[in-house]
Amino acid sequence: MTFDVTAPMVNDLDAYWMPFTANRQFKGAPRLLVSARGMHYTSRDGRRILDGTAGLWCVNAGHGRPEITEAIRAMAGHLDYAPPFQMGHPLAFDLAARLVSIMPDGLDHVFFSNSGSEAVETALKIALAYHAVRGEAGRTRLIGRERAYHGVNFGGLSVGGMVNNRRLFGTLLGGVDHLPHTHLPAENAFTRGQPAHGAHLADDLERLVALHGAETIAAVIVEPMAGSAGVLPPPRGYLERLREITTRHGILLIFDEVITAFGRLGHASAAERFGVTPDIMTTAKALTNAAVPMGATLVSGAIHDAFMRGPEHVVELFHGYTYSAHPLACAAAVATQEVYKADGLFTRARTLEDPWADAIHGLRDLPHVIDLRTLGLVAAVELAPRPEAPGERGFEVFRACYDRGVLTRVTGDTIALSPPLIIGDGHIDQLVSTLADVLRAIP
Ligand code: PMP
Repeated sequence: MTFDVTAPMVNDLDAYWMPFTANRQFKGAPRLLVSARGMHYTSRDGRRILDGTAGLWCVNAGHGRPEITEAIRAMAGHLDYAPPFQMGHPLAFDLAARLVSIMPDGLDHVFFSNSGSEAVETALKIALAYHAVRGEAGRTRLIGRERAYHGVNFGGLSVGGMVNNRRLFGTLLGGVDHLPHTHLPAENAFTRGQPAHGAHLADDLERLVALHGAETIAAVIVEPMAGSAGVLPPPRGYLERLREITTRHGILLIFDEVITAFGRLGHASAAERFGVTPDIMTTAKALTNAAVPMGATLVSGAIHDAFMRGPEHVVELFHGYTYSAHPLACAAAVATQEVYKADGLFTRARTLEDPWADAIHGLRDLPHVIDLRTLGLVAAVELAPRPEAPGERGFEVFRACYDRGVLTRVTGDTIALSPPLIIGDGHIDQLVSTLADVLRAIP
């Protein structure tokens, strides 16, 4: 079967209930993408769209990499599927070893899943089970943070802190607290890199320890750089302080690196960039350059070893997915890691960080701009909300940029940018000048 992806395959858009989308509005004026190459999508109406967001923070090596599509094709013809329970296939072990080799020392074992949300659920479950198998079953509390995004499953929603994502779904998990978010607009406006103010916000963890007792707390989970909530780089010293407090109280520290791993901040991980190693790390997205869904949860040797002490024939962790370490995902991931290495893309992101920040901070005096934040190859352009309709101006900017051939991402009135790491100077100019034109044009 072949697909003529440019043909109008279907005229009735009603059956597909789209995720995180204003469906009725979308279907009135659909934005349909039919192909992608390098830095660009092609839309169904035949326009080239510059990808300012690497898809959804995930296509770090650019679109349609032949090395990756070839690997997927080859594996599909070779081994379509292998059960991951009590069975394995060699590439899964190879991939796990490669990931361990590029991530910070101490993260020594990998559990595979199919998405960021699943990587988070896996992390939370491992944290709880770790304490239980060590005889500290009283450590059941989980601590997240306001404005955090940890996916959409019940555990991730519970520790997450995005109001709209939570409010229709009942009481969620019990025994969850949230640290304050780190957005201090008055002190930190227009910051390049890590903001100077806010390390003290980590001390709120001491308050929760005093309130509940450390012996009841299993883990703290944070995004080292909050992404979906509108790009909030960690204040200087904040992650170090979280690490110090969690270690002192025997609480596990989980970094959700679904966005930040694989070069987004100029290193294999945010943990490496900030010099702070968590006990558990979640990844997904750019792991496979987004060509096949995959999530991965990395854990410390100490955590893994705690599960390996029972009788040999006993299953250590009653958890897993039919598609854990799927052969096509492993093939895509191994090929993707090779591309990152061969093209030096993490270093490239590091080299581009300054010119990228220069270009973004050039938007400072444009209409509606109330803050700009940059870190690695990420940027947030925060706009003043219209008092009567928060989010409306942000969405108009997103739509107008798309109409002018540039894909951005909008959350509320913040435009988030996270281009593929192959971005060139000309693309940065186009991205920023399109945004500038749109900001000048809209009310
Ligand atoms: N955690 C973080 C930090 C994320 O940014 C995301 C997705 N944006 C997720 C988890 C969830 O990933 P997925 O959509 O693949 O389930």
